[in-house]
Amino acid sequence: MVLLLAGPSLSPKSKCGFGLFVFRVIPRAHCAEFFGRARASKKQMPLTDKFGRQITDLRVSVTDRCNFRCVYCRSADPEKHMPAHNLLEWDEYERLVRIFVGMGIRKVRVTGGEPLVRPGVEDFIARLKAIGVQDLSMTTNGYLLAQRCERLVAAGMDRINISLDSLERERFERVTRTKTFDDVIAGIDAAQASRLRPVKVNAVLVRGINDDEVEAFAEFARERDLIMRFIEFMPLDADHAWTRDMVVTAAEIHARISARWPLVPIVHERSETARKYRFADGRGEIGLIAPVSQPFCGHCSRIRLTADGKLRTCLFSKDDHDLRYLLRGGATDREIGDEILRIVQHKEKGHRINEPGFVPPSRTMVFIGG
Ligand code: SAM
Ligand code: SF4
Repeated sequence: MVLLLAGPSLSPKSKCGFGLFVFRVIPRAHCAEFFGRARASKKQMPLTDKFGRQITDLRVSVTDRCNFRCVYCRSADPEKHMPAHNLLEWDEYERLVRIFVGMGIRKVRVTGGEPLVRPGVEDFIARLKAIGVQDLSMTTNGYLLAQRCERLVAAGMDRINISLDSLERERFERVTRTKTFDDVIAGIDAAQASRLRPVKVNAVLVRGINDDEVEAFAEFARERDLIMRFIEFMPLDADHAWTRDMVVTAAEIHARISARWPLVPIVHERSETARKYRFADGRGEIGLIAPVSQPFCGHCSRIRLTADGKLRTCLFSKDDHDLRYLLRGGATDREIGDEILRIVQHKEKGHRINEPGFVPPSRTMVFIGG
């Protein structure tokens, strides 16, 4: 049995054409494959929001727990963690990511809380790789990285971002409220010695805490030939201590570094968060992430999945959208995909940090997944 299908295209398989229409002969053996693809492509509606932004990046938070208490993120006081049964299981994450990938997600970043505190994260990385995620990365505080790096690489992880907010041991201990400086440096060493590329180191600069280390971080990037990224402090801290004058702007950082070492801009994708520069005279790279002073919402390609299965269309969203309910309520992949499409339609035009009356979201960074 063969099928004759009419369509407005010419192909080498064409048997005959009438005007613009072409009849393709599909052998019986290929019928199932054809219809399978047709069904799949029907599902694979690309994720585009109402402002025309294509959504290609998914941040997946695998836990709300963390072994650090960074001052700009968590509180010194104990927080209420999500009950275990509220957290997505690995199978649930895998199913959702498969649906997302079918809708055009190309980059997945595993984050938290601290992703390395959740047992089984290496297997999860391997499962994501098997789904066909094109660009698979993790953001970690680096504490457990040295001992886990090889397994993450073997699982198929492509690249890594490691947080390091001070190069001075005591200050690092005050910022993170831990004594783990050597472990984090060992984590960076392990990442640099591995196949993970690029290795990016992230610092959140907070005025009066670590803003005097801009040049030292730049030297760190040059000496180690890595990408040093400076992230502006955002109003997502658990203590709600953020004020505008605590933000060290990208412009200030650029001026300070380039006064010492001329910087050359590097072309970046429009949707990238960082403005990138290399040193004119040597190794290393700088990334400036300026969500407060130079918002990049107009080209945002990101959505976030929280550890309890909520979809967030912006770090600063007021609401999140429950996908766990659908997962556990017996919804089909198609129904979940349709709901994701609907949610993405409502992605915010931009955050409102710089508008009067801005109110920070009720979830803080550790509960959203950065
Ligand atoms: N625990 C991991 C870590 O610290 O890398 C991953 C999760 S953490 C929430 C992800 C990123 O968010 C880190 O680079 C962290 O520095 C950043 N971050 C946390 N709170 C922030 C804030 N209030 N403003 C800006 N960045 C923040
Ligand atoms: Fe933990 Fe990362 Fe938040 Fe620091 S920034 S407290 S390491 S989640």
